Amino acid sequence: MFEVFDGSFTQQEPIPDEGIAAAMAVLQHGRLHRYNVVEGELSETALLEQEFAAFTGAKYALAVASGGYAIGCALRAVGVKAGDTVLSNGFTLAPVPGAIASVGAEPLFVETAENLTIDLDDLEAQIEASAAKYLLLSHMRGHLCDMDRLMAICDAAGVAVIEDCAHTMGASWQGVPSGRHGVAGCYSCQTYKHVNSGEGGFLVSDDAEVMARATIMSGSYMLYERHLAAPPPEVFEQVKYVTPNISGRMDNLRAAILRPQLVKLPAQVAAWNARYAAMEAGLRNAPGLSVIERDPRGVFVGSSIQFRLPQATSAEINEFTARCAARGVELKWFGAAEPKAFTSRYDSWRYARPQALARTDEILSGLLDMRLPLTFSVEDCALIARIIQSEARALQGRAALAG
Ligand SMILES: *Cc1c(COP(=O)(O)O)cnc(C)c1O
Repeated sequence: MFEVFDGSFTQQEPIPDEGIAAAMAVLQHGRLHRYNVVEGELSETALLEQEFAAFTGAKYALAVASGGYAIGCALRAVGVKAGDTVLSNGFTLAPVPGAIASVGAEPLFVETAENLTIDLDDLEAQIEASAAKYLLLSHMRGHLCDMDRLMAICDAAGVAVIEDCAHTMGASWQGVPSGRHGVAGCYSCQTYKHVNSGEGGFLVSDDAEVMARATIMSGSYMLYERHLAAPPPEVFEQVKYVTPNISGRMDNLRAAILRPQLVKLPAQVAAWNARYAAMEAGLRNAPGLSVIERDPRGVFVGSSIQFRLPQATSAEINEFTARCAARGVELKWFGAAEPKAFTSRYDSWRYARPQALARTDEILSGLLDMRLPLTFSVEDCALIARIIQSEARALQGRAALAG
């Protein structure tokens, strides 16, 4: 039997009906700008921020135009200046080093561990060698490192941690929500993440001054008292004349779409993890293939899955992905020579100082990645896993024949 999958790896679910109704109400009254409110009205954006602060347990939350904007804003708000070195993962997505570059700072990439998290031994060594004071930690593809050890390393060295939680909204480490370990956590609401407003992002923190600066930078003008999850006015008094406006606000239309999705998020996480479990169970015994082990101290969100073909050559992986694609299974290969679609390799970002990360290269050379949209059923995931498993077996067969 030659099974084929015919679903779409980029098709998300529709916006919930309540979100569509709330969006229609915003379109009808026309007050899309977050500070455009009538007497006594609380804007959709202000309410969303209040709900997101409660969701993460943060004192303060700010909704902004994108995840990348949230990261750049957080870097500026914690005091990163042009010329500063900012440590980050060697394996992440382009907006992460891009946010560092947008502030005029220099990214310095850290090696990748077997489980795709930041390599904590290399982090320690690079902090010492560079004397960097900032780490932009990317929980790439939802893989959480040992956050207790990471924070101990960074606290001991006086390194401020900003978390990129684009793939960990709804995840946690030892019961602490992702984004709540460092000084600030940044999230994305872009279509392929865990909530979908097309574009959008959040920044959370317990640090009042950081959040007052971030709020003014995001474009609040002197209207910050219309926020419901911002620091008190006296904190703004200290920063309002010396903080530039770098507009990147969320608008009420997107906030209206997001609010019901935030309510649904815990159920969505369970749905993703059921699909992930079906896929992982199907891949676990495939020959020549290794799944990425998840640390049981973390609760992750299985919105994508990664696996490695550690023994395969480039030519073999090219053939493997082509054969999977012919059967409807779209895999992204991080070891391809040229960057394609969304780029995730440190050597694609040539505005950064050139670096050689041997372990990251080795891991990415055999690393494959697949999205798991919620429009897939659990049965779809089992079918996809069977296709991959059979192609992995065929690959082994061809390799054995070639001797
Ligand atoms: C998507 C993403 C971002 C940034 O999000 P945008 O909203 O697209 O700017 C940051 N980090 C990672 C790892 C991402 O995947």
